[in-house]
Amino acid sequence: MNEPIITFDKVVKTYGDHTVLDQLSFQINKGEKVTIIGPSGSGKSTVLRILMTLEGIDGGVVYVGGEPLWHERGPNGLEPAGEAHLHHMRGQLGMVFQQFNLFPHMTVLRNITEAPVKVLGLSKAEARERADELLELVGLSEHARKYPHQLSGGQQQRVGIARALAMRPSILLFDEPTSALDPELVGEVLNVIGRLAEEHDLTMLLVTHEMRFAREISDRVLFFDRGRIVEEGSPERLFTAPSQERTREFLKTTL
Ligand code: ADP
Ligand code: MG
Repeated sequence: MNEPIITFDKVVKTYGDHTVLDQLSFQINKGEKVTIIGPSGSGKSTVLRILMTLEGIDGGVVYVGGEPLWHERGPNGLEPAGEAHLHHMRGQLGMVFQQFNLFPHMTVLRNITEAPVKVLGLSKAEARERADELLELVGLSEHARKYPHQLSGGQQQRVGIARALAMRPSILLFDEPTSALDPELVGEVLNVIGRLAEEHDLTMLLVTHEMRFAREISDRVLFFDRGRIVEEGSPERLFTAPSQERTREFLKTTL
Protein backbone atom coordinates (compact mmCIF):
# COMPACT_ATOMS: atom_id res chain seq x y z
CA MET A 1 0.00 0.00 0.00
CA ASN A 2 2.80 2.47 0.83
CA GLU A 3 4.07 2.85 -2.70
CA PRO A 4 5.64 6.29 -3.22
CA ILE A 5 4.34 8.04 -6.32
CA ILE A 6 5.98 11.43 -5.65
CA THR A 7 9.37 11.85 -4.01
CA PHE A 8 11.24 15.10 -3.37
CA ASP A 9 14.79 14.24 -2.35
CA LYS A 10 16.72 17.24 -0.96
CA VAL A 11 15.28 19.51 -3.61
CA VAL A 12 16.76 22.99 -3.89
CA LYS A 13 15.11 25.82 -5.81
CA THR A 14 16.60 29.30 -5.94
CA TYR A 15 15.79 32.58 -7.63
CA GLY A 16 19.02 34.56 -7.67
CA ASP A 17 20.25 34.44 -4.09
CA HIS A 18 16.77 33.72 -2.73
CA THR A 19 16.44 30.07 -1.69
CA VAL A 20 12.80 29.12 -2.20
CA LEU A 21 13.08 25.38 -1.49
CA ASP A 22 15.79 24.48 0.96
CA GLN A 23 16.77 20.80 0.64
CA LEU A 24 13.12 19.85 0.69
CA SER A 25 12.36 16.14 1.12
CA PHE A 26 9.00 14.38 1.31
CA GLN A 27 7.10 11.46 -0.17
CA ILE A 28 3.51 11.00 -1.23
CA ASN A 29 2.12 7.48 -1.53
CA LYS A 30 -0.11 6.28 -4.31
CA GLY A 31 -3.72 7.16 -3.59
CA GLU A 32 -2.85 9.43 -0.70
CA LYS A 33 -4.65 12.78 -0.24
CA VAL A 34 -2.16 15.28 1.10
CA THR A 35 -2.71 18.94 1.94
CA ILE A 36 0.05 21.53 1.99
CA ILE A 37 -0.55 24.51 4.26
CA GLY A 38 1.71 27.39 5.14
CA PRO A 39 2.22 31.15 4.89
CA SER A 40 2.37 33.04 1.61
CA GLY A 41 5.78 32.77 -0.03
CA SER A 42 6.72 29.51 1.72
CA GLY A 43 7.17 27.61 -1.57
CA LYS A 44 3.85 25.75 -1.86
CA SER A 45 3.09 26.75 -5.45
CA THR A 46 6.71 26.17 -6.41
CA VAL A 47 6.39 22.51 -5.41
CA LEU A 48 3.36 22.06 -7.67
CA ARG A 49 4.96 23.99 -10.53
CA ILE A 50 8.07 21.80 -10.35
CA LEU A 51 5.88 18.69 -10.57
CA MET A 52 4.14 20.12 -13.64
CA THR A 53 7.61 20.82 -15.12
CA LEU A 54 6.71 24.51 -15.29
CA GLU A 55 9.86 25.14 -13.22
CA GLY A 56 13.23 23.44 -13.05
CA ILE A 57 15.24 22.72 -9.91
CA ASP A 58 18.74 23.62 -8.75
CA GLY A 59 19.58 20.58 -6.68
CA GLY A 60 18.28 17.23 -5.48
CA VAL A 61 15.96 14.93 -7.40
CA VAL A 62 12.21 14.76 -7.98
CA TYR A 63 10.74 11.35 -8.78
CA VAL A 64 7.28 10.66 -10.12
CA GLY A 65 6.22 7.02 -10.16
CA GLY A 66 9.78 6.03 -9.30
CA GLU A 67 11.31 7.80 -12.30
CA PRO A 68 13.34 11.01 -12.09
CA LEU A 69 11.93 14.20 -13.60
CA TRP A 70 15.40 15.74 -13.59
CA HIS A 71 18.68 13.92 -14.01
CA GLU A 72 21.92 14.94 -12.40
CA ARG A 73 24.53 15.19 -15.09
CA GLY A 74 28.06 16.50 -15.19
CA PRO A 75 29.51 19.58 -13.55
CA ASN A 76 26.51 21.77 -14.43
CA GLY A 77 24.26 19.80 -12.16
CA LEU A 78 20.74 19.13 -13.30
CA GLU A 79 19.24 18.70 -16.68
CA PRO A 80 15.69 17.85 -17.53
CA ALA A 81 14.96 14.34 -18.62
CA GLY A 82 14.57 13.99 -22.39
CA GLU A 83 11.49 15.45 -24.07
CA ALA A 84 9.87 12.06 -24.71
CA HIS A 85 10.35 11.08 -21.08
CA LEU A 86 8.95 14.41 -19.85
CA HIS A 87 5.93 14.00 -22.10
CA HIS A 88 5.27 10.60 -20.55
CA MET A 89 5.72 12.00 -17.03
CA ARG A 90 3.45 15.00 -17.65
CA GLY A 91 0.68 12.65 -18.70
CA GLN A 92 0.47 11.35 -15.14
CA LEU A 93 -0.22 14.76 -13.62
CA GLY A 94 -3.09 17.22 -13.82
CA MET A 95 -3.32 20.62 -12.19
CA VAL A 96 -6.14 22.90 -11.11
CA PHE A 97 -5.08 26.54 -10.84
CA GLN A 98 -6.20 29.30 -8.50
CA GLN A 99 -7.17 31.52 -11.47
CA PHE A 100 -8.86 28.64 -13.40
CA ASN A 101 -6.69 29.32 -16.52
CA LEU A 102 -9.46 28.30 -18.92
CA PHE A 103 -9.09 29.15 -22.61
CA PRO A 104 -11.38 32.23 -22.86
CA HIS A 105 -12.10 31.85 -26.58
CA MET A 106 -13.20 28.21 -26.30
CA THR A 107 -16.51 26.78 -25.12
CA VAL A 108 -16.63 24.74 -21.93
CA LEU A 109 -16.78 21.57 -24.01
CA ARG A 110 -13.81 22.55 -26.14
CA ASN A 111 -11.80 23.50 -23.03
CA ILE A 112 -12.25 19.91 -21.88
CA THR A 113 -11.77 18.10 -25.20
CA GLU A 114 -8.85 20.13 -26.58
CA ALA A 115 -5.96 18.39 -24.80
CA PRO A 116 -7.31 14.82 -25.02
CA VAL A 117 -7.59 15.29 -28.80
CA LYS A 118 -4.34 17.21 -29.34
CA VAL A 119 -2.12 15.49 -26.78
CA LEU A 120 -3.63 12.02 -26.30
CA GLY A 121 -4.86 11.61 -29.88
CA LEU A 122 -8.43 10.74 -28.91
CA SER A 123 -11.04 11.06 -31.65
CA LYS A 124 -13.43 13.98 -31.26
CA ALA A 125 -16.24 11.55 -30.43
CA GLU A 126 -14.20 9.83 -27.73
CA ALA A 127 -13.15 13.14 -26.22
CA ARG A 128 -16.74 14.37 -26.35
CA GLU A 129 -17.99 11.27 -24.54
CA ARG A 130 -15.36 11.68 -21.86
CA ALA A 131 -16.23 15.38 -21.49
CA ASP A 132 -19.95 14.61 -21.14
CA GLU A 133 -19.23 12.24 -18.26
CA LEU A 134 -17.00 14.77 -16.55
CA LEU A 135 -19.48 17.63 -17.00
CA GLU A 136 -22.04 15.43 -15.32
CA LEU A 137 -19.61 14.68 -12.50
CA VAL A 138 -19.04 18.40 -11.83
CA GLY A 139 -22.72 19.26 -12.37
CA LEU A 140 -22.34 21.38 -15.50
CA SER A 141 -23.97 19.32 -18.26
CA GLU A 142 -26.25 22.24 -19.10
CA HIS A 143 -23.36 24.61 -19.72
CA ALA A 144 -21.27 22.75 -22.30
CA ARG A 145 -21.85 25.32 -25.06
CA LYS A 146 -21.11 28.38 -22.97
CA TYR A 147 -17.89 30.37 -22.84
CA PRO A 148 -15.99 30.84 -19.57
CA HIS A 149 -17.05 34.48 -19.17
CA GLN A 150 -20.69 33.35 -19.13
CA LEU A 151 -20.08 31.26 -16.00
CA SER A 152 -19.63 32.10 -12.34
CA GLY A 153 -16.20 31.64 -10.78
CA GLY A 154 -17.33 28.46 -9.05
CA GLN A 155 -18.61 27.03 -12.34
CA GLN A 156 -15.39 28.00 -14.10
CA GLN A 157 -13.34 26.23 -11.49
CA ARG A 158 -15.49 23.11 -11.84
CA VAL A 159 -14.70 23.23 -15.57
CA GLY A 160 -11.02 23.54 -14.59
CA ILE A 161 -11.36 20.33 -12.56
CA ALA A 162 -13.15 18.52 -15.41
CA ARG A 163 -10.47 19.67 -17.83
CA ALA A 164 -7.69 18.29 -15.63
CA LEU A 165 -9.53 14.98 -15.18
CA ALA A 166 -10.08 14.61 -18.94
CA MET A 167 -6.41 13.67 -19.26
CA ARG A 168 -6.98 10.79 -16.79
CA PRO A 169 -4.06 11.74 -14.55
CA SER A 170 -3.09 9.50 -11.67
CA ILE A 171 -2.00 12.57 -9.67
CA LEU A 172 -4.12 15.69 -9.34
CA LEU A 173 -2.59 18.91 -8.02
CA PHE A 174 -4.67 21.81 -6.71
CA ASP A 175 -3.17 25.24 -6.08
CA GLU A 176 -5.55 27.16 -3.82
CA PRO A 177 -8.52 26.19 -6.01
CA THR A 178 -11.02 28.29 -4.04
CA SER A 179 -8.92 31.35 -3.17
CA ALA A 180 -10.18 33.43 -6.11
CA LEU A 181 -13.85 32.66 -5.40
CA ASP A 182 -16.50 34.68 -3.64
CA PRO A 183 -17.26 32.96 -0.32
CA GLU A 184 -20.69 31.74 -1.40
CA LEU A 185 -19.12 29.84 -4.34
CA VAL A 186 -16.45 28.01 -2.37
CA GLY A 187 -18.73 25.18 -1.21
CA GLU A 188 -19.70 23.92 -4.67
CA VAL A 189 -16.02 23.55 -5.65
CA LEU A 190 -15.04 21.91 -2.36
CA ASN A 191 -17.93 19.47 -2.82
CA VAL A 192 -16.52 18.32 -6.15
CA ILE A 193 -13.00 18.01 -4.75
CA GLY A 194 -14.35 16.14 -1.73
CA ARG A 195 -16.07 13.64 -4.00
CA LEU A 196 -12.82 13.10 -5.94
CA ALA A 197 -11.03 12.50 -2.67
CA GLU A 198 -13.18 9.42 -2.18
CA GLU A 199 -11.56 7.82 -5.23
CA HIS A 200 -8.94 5.54 -3.83
CA ASP A 201 -6.71 5.37 -6.90
CA LEU A 202 -6.32 9.10 -7.37
CA THR A 203 -3.39 10.76 -5.63
CA MET A 204 -4.18 14.32 -4.56
CA LEU A 205 -1.84 17.09 -3.51
CA LEU A 206 -3.79 20.15 -2.47
CA VAL A 207 -2.59 23.59 -1.42
CA THR A 208 -5.37 25.33 0.48
CA HIS A 209 -6.25 27.79 3.22
CA GLU A 210 -9.54 25.98 3.86
CA MET A 211 -8.44 24.33 7.08
CA ARG A 212 -11.74 22.70 7.92
CA PHE A 213 -11.87 21.13 4.49
CA ALA A 214 -8.22 20.03 4.71
CA ARG A 215 -9.07 18.35 7.96
CA GLU A 216 -12.01 16.49 6.45
CA ILE A 217 -10.37 15.13 3.32
CA SER A 218 -6.64 14.74 3.97
CA ASP A 219 -4.78 11.65 5.01
CA ARG A 220 -1.83 13.84 5.88
CA VAL A 221 -0.99 17.54 6.21
CA LEU A 222 2.38 19.14 5.49
CA PHE A 223 3.08 22.52 7.09
CA PHE A 224 5.52 24.57 5.01
CA ASP A 225 7.53 27.55 6.11
CA ARG A 226 10.41 29.12 4.18
CA GLY A 227 10.85 26.28 1.77
CA ARG A 228 10.95 23.55 4.39
CA ILE A 229 8.50 21.23 6.05
CA VAL A 230 8.28 22.37 9.64
CA GLU A 231 5.85 19.68 10.66
CA GLU A 232 3.69 16.97 9.14
CA GLY A 233 1.10 14.58 10.42
CA SER A 234 -2.47 13.40 10.33
CA PRO A 235 -4.94 16.29 10.24
CA GLU A 236 -6.35 15.25 13.62
CA ARG A 237 -2.94 15.50 15.23
CA LEU A 238 -1.55 18.51 13.38
CA PHE A 239 -4.63 20.72 13.77
CA THR A 240 -5.41 19.82 17.37
CA ALA A 241 -1.96 19.23 18.84
CA PRO A 242 0.77 20.81 16.71
CA SER A 243 4.20 20.03 18.09
CA GLN A 244 5.96 23.13 16.73
CA GLU A 245 5.51 26.69 17.95
CA ARG A 246 5.67 27.93 14.34
CA THR A 247 2.73 25.68 13.40
CA ARG A 248 0.70 26.90 16.39
CA GLU A 249 1.36 30.52 15.40
CA PHE A 250 0.32 29.88 11.81
CA LEU A 251 -2.85 28.01 12.74
CA LYS A 252 -3.90 30.90 15.01
CA THR A 253 -3.81 33.25 12.00
CA THR A 254 -6.16 30.99 10.01
CA LEU A 255 -9.04 30.89 12.51
P1 ADP B 1 3.51 30.16 -1.94
O1 ADP B 1 2.76 29.45 -3.02
O2 ADP B 1 3.76 29.34 -0.73
O3 ADP B 1 2.87 31.48 -1.58
P2 ADP B 1 5.57 30.38 -3.97
O4 ADP B 1 5.99 28.98 -4.19
O5 ADP B 1 4.68 31.00 -4.98
O6 ADP B 1 4.96 30.52 -2.50
O7 ADP B 1 6.85 31.31 -3.89
C1 ADP B 1 7.91 31.07 -3.01
C2 ADP B 1 8.90 32.20 -3.11
O8 ADP B 1 9.47 32.21 -4.41
C3 ADP B 1 8.28 33.58 -2.90
O9 ADP B 1 9.17 34.33 -2.10
C4 ADP B 1 8.22 34.14 -4.30
O10 ADP B 1 8.37 35.53 -4.27
C5 ADP B 1 9.40 33.48 -4.98
N1 ADP B 1 9.18 33.32 -6.44
C6 ADP B 1 8.25 32.54 -7.01
N2 ADP B 1 8.34 32.58 -8.35
C7 ADP B 1 9.36 33.43 -8.63
C8 ADP B 1 9.98 33.91 -9.85
N3 ADP B 1 9.52 33.49 -11.05
N4 ADP B 1 11.02 34.75 -9.72
C9 ADP B 1 11.47 35.14 -8.52
N5 ADP B 1 10.95 34.74 -7.35
C10 ADP B 1 9.91 33.89 -7.39
MG1 MG C 1 1.01 29.94 -4.00
